[in-house]
Amino acid sequence: MSIAAQKESAYQPPDLTGAPNVIEIKDLVTHYGSREILHKVNVNVREGEVLVIMGGSGSGKSTLLNTLLGLVNPTSGGVHILGQELHAISGVERTKLRQKMGVAFQGGALFSSMSVLDNITLPLREHTQLDHNTMRIMARLKMQVVNLAGFENLMPSELSGGMIKRAAFARAIVMDPRILFCDEPSAGLDPIVASAIDELILSLRDAMGMSIVVVTHELESAFRIADRICVLDKGHILMIGTVAEVRASANERIQNLLNRRTEEETLDPDEYLRRLTAAND
Ligand code: ADP
Ligand code: MG
Repeated sequence: MSIAAQKESAYQPPDLTGAPNVIEIKDLVTHYGSREILHKVNVNVREGEVLVIMGGSGSGKSTLLNTLLGLVNPTSGGVHILGQELHAISGVERTKLRQKMGVAFQGGALFSSMSVLDNITLPLREHTQLDHNTMRIMARLKMQVVNLAGFENLMPSELSGGMIKRAAFARAIVMDPRILFCDEPSAGLDPIVASAIDELILSLRDAMGMSIVVVTHELESAFRIADRICVLDKGHILMIGTVAEVRASANERIQNLLNRRTEEETLDPDEYLRRLTAAND
């Protein structure tokens, strides 16, 4: 039996069946122009769980993620986050709510002209009035959490792929969010580095009690980290279940989807900044 398989069989997922929901998505419909993308999607995220949204390219994963971040407006249906109706509240309230949500974008979306530390303090500079030194201390603490202590003054171009992901995680958690969103956290990494990122995600759930939503097409990663998996196909949810339930599914579409690969998606730093500040508009 491989080490990975042993770990898997030893791992006991926490019992979250009675946990309150931090996100409730009800009959969510979204359009781009006249084209319907998400068709009456219903899924909840429980406090303290890792929910993985899986699906092939074009299935609507990013659209769903962007809707949760308030960047895409639904045509109908509702998104309730931490007790607030995301699309009904005022811009000021949405900005406040958005600060309880951290996002680690695919590719990292770090600014190449800023040091790692400056990249990580960015949300603090945008959203708080803290003094410079306090911000640096907070950022350094988060760098320790993600195992990047000592790399504060490096530029992103000097980091490996795994370190860029870690820096993106440090930036995502620098405001101590209640909910963390990760878009394709292990894409483009070699298997050992990818599994270290998976460990990091689990440690954030366990040590910081975060609720975590991960979008991924990486089957192995999903099976390692998910408390529950939501399988999305062409804007429909095919199934929501535990790893064991999804694995055991006889649904041919699910089995096909799980074996398919999606294309790389990347986000440049300017787009990151636009998204970071979008809720202020
Ligand atoms: P995934 O992240 O699962 O690959 P997306 O949510 O990016 O899927 O896309 C879902 C569908 O919506 C795709 O058919 C895609 O072409 C379309 N789409 C995505 N973004 C836009 C956009 N900004 N304008 C128009 N169509 C879009
Ligand atoms: Mg996508």
